[in-house]
Amino acid sequence: MAQDDKAQGGRVAAGLSWRQLIELEACARCGECKGWCPVYTQDAREAICARGKLDGLRGLVRGSLSEGERSVFLESLYECSACGQCHVVCPVRIDTPELWEQARLALGRAGFPRPESQTRALAGIKRHNNSYAKPQAERGLWAERAWQAGLLLAPVRLWRERPAPVLYFAGCTGSLDPAMQFVAVLSARLLQEAGVDFAILGPDEPCCASKLRRMGDETFPQEAAQRIELLRGLGAETIVASCAGCFKGLHGDFARLPGGVLPVLHLTQMLDRLIAAGRLPLRHAVPLRVTYHDPCHLGRHSQIYEEPRRVLAAVPGLEFVELARAGAFSSCCGMGGGLKLANEGLQHRMGAHRIREAEATGASAIVTPCQTCCIGLANGVKETGSPLRVMHLNEVLARAVCPEITPEKVAAALAAGG
Ligand code: SF4
Ligand code: SF4
Repeated sequence: MAQDDKAQGGRVAAGLSWRQLIELEACARCGECKGWCPVYTQDAREAICARGKLDGLRGLVRGSLSEGERSVFLESLYECSACGQCHVVCPVRIDTPELWEQARLALGRAGFPRPESQTRALAGIKRHNNSYAKPQAERGLWAERAWQAGLLLAPVRLWRERPAPVLYFAGCTGSLDPAMQFVAVLSARLLQEAGVDFAILGPDEPCCASKLRRMGDETFPQEAAQRIELLRGLGAETIVASCAGCFKGLHGDFARLPGGVLPVLHLTQMLDRLIAAGRLPLRHAVPLRVTYHDPCHLGRHSQIYEEPRRVLAAVPGLEFVELARAGAFSSCCGMGGGLKLANEGLQHRMGAHRIREAEATGASAIVTPCQTCCIGLANGVKETGSPLRVMHLNEVLARAVCPEITPEKVAAALAAGG
C-alpha cells in the first residue's frame, strides 16, 4: 500500500513543474494566507486554506498521507475559487492559483477522482461547446432579437457575413443565460453608440474553454489550440470580451500556449479608451452612490484595476465609494474555480459576506463588470435579504448613454422573442 501511495505520489509530482515542486517545500507555514482566504473566512478548516492545501499536496507527492488525510485534501483542493488572494499576500509569492489548477490536472491524470458535479460540467462543456447545454445555433439569437425589439442602433452582423476590425466575443453566459443576456445586448449597444465597427461569431462562437483549465481538465491544451487557431484565423485587430472569465482564458491562459498571444481587450478597457477619446457621450446623470467589486479574473489575475474605476468616474452624477477590501485585496464572491459546483453553500456564504462588506460602505449598489460575479453577488443578496442592488457596469453606463435600455427591458424582449 505504501509503495502504491509512493508510486501515485510520483505520478502527481510528474504532473507539476520543477518550480511548483519547489514551491511545495518553500511554504514558510506562516499562515498569512489563512486570514485573507475567502473560503477559510466562511469555513475555518485548516485543510481549506492555502497552507493546508500545500501541506496536503506535499504529503500526497511524498506518498505520506493517511487515507483520511488524503480524502480531506482531495475535498479541499476543489473547495477553492482560485481567487489568487493567497498568492498576493504570501511572503514567498507562491503562485497558488496556477498550482491548484495544475494539481487538479495532475491528480486527474494520476487517477484521483474530482467532484462528480465538476465531471458532469466538464463533459457538458465539451459535448455542447457551451456551459448551458444549449444548441450552438442559439448563440447569436440575442443579437437578432435585440435588433427586432428596437434595442440596438443597427443589426449586429455575423463575422461569417463580413469581418470587422473588432470581434465582440459575448461568451457562453452573455449569449445563452437569459438572466445575463442583457450584458451582451448592452455591450453591443454601447459599442454601436461609440461607432465601433464590430461583428460577432454568433453560432460559430466557441466556449472559451477556460473552465476546463480552472477545473484541471486534461483536454484543455487541445481544446484551447482549436480556439487559438480559429481566433487567429479571423485576423481581427481587436477581440473584445465582456466576460471576465473569457477574458482570462483568451488573454491569459491562451498566451501560455503556442501561438496564443491574441489582441484581446476586456470590454472595460475598450470602454475606457472610447470614453477618453470622447467617442461615448455620457449624456444623462446617474444619481447613485455605488461601490465597485473587482472580479478576481480581471483584477488579481489580469491586473485590470484602474480602467473600470475610470469608467465609473466618467459617469455624471455617480458617487463612488471604495470597499474596505478592494483592488488586489478584494474579497472573492466565490464563483470562480468550479467552487460553486463543488460546494454551493460555501459560494452563497461568500457572496453574502461580500454583500455585507459592500453594505458597510453605505452604497445603494455594488457594481462589477463580470456577469459571473453578478450571479454570485445576487446569491449573496438572497442569502442576506439585503436591499443592495447588484449592477453590471454596462447597466450603469447604459443609464448614462441610453437610459431607455434596461436589463429588465432586454430580458422581456428576448423572452418574448421565443
Ligand atoms: S485561491 Fe483564494 S480561495 Fe483558494 S486558497 Fe487561495 S485565497 Fe483561498
Ligand atoms: S502565506 Fe505563503 S508561505 Fe505563508 S503559509 Fe500561506 S502559502 Fe505558506
